[in-house]
Order: sequence, then C-alpha cells, then structure tokens
Amino acid sequence: MRNKDELLNDLKLDMPKIDPVEGMKCPICGKPTTNKYKPFCSKRCADIDLDKWFNGNYVIHTEEAPNDDALNQ
Ligand SMILES: [Zn+2]
Repeated sequence: MRNKDELLNDLKLDMPKIDPVEGMKCPICGKPTTNKYKPFCSKRCADIDLDKWFNGNYVIHTEEAPNDDALNQ
C-alpha cells in the first residue's frame, strides 16, 4: 500500500498549476476542486477519501476469501 503523500503526488503530476480547477467539484463535500488537492477541495477531503482506501471500502479484503461464501457456512 502506498502512502498518502505518494497518492497525492500522483494526482498532481499531470495537472497545470491552476487553483481552483474549473468545472470540478470535490467528490466528498461538493466544493470547487483545487488543483493542489485535485480531485478534492482540500487536504481534509483528500484524507477522508484516502481513509476509505485504507479502511478497505474501495478494495477487496485480502485476509478473507472473497470469492466463495459457501466456504464459511
Ligand atoms: Zn471537499
């Protein structure tokens, strides 16, 4: 798992240095996106989204078998 700074750096790599980003809204709170934290409006919302990653909301848990419910019953 990569850390937050690396993820945020990737988000910024191909973006022009404009702030905020026109036509984009933060997926967390709906405020205008800023280039620095694209696609989010702020570090707070970026952290909220990344926390979802770390909490497993966006990824499949690897410690449990994800493909067969019958094995557990
Ligand atoms: Zn936001």
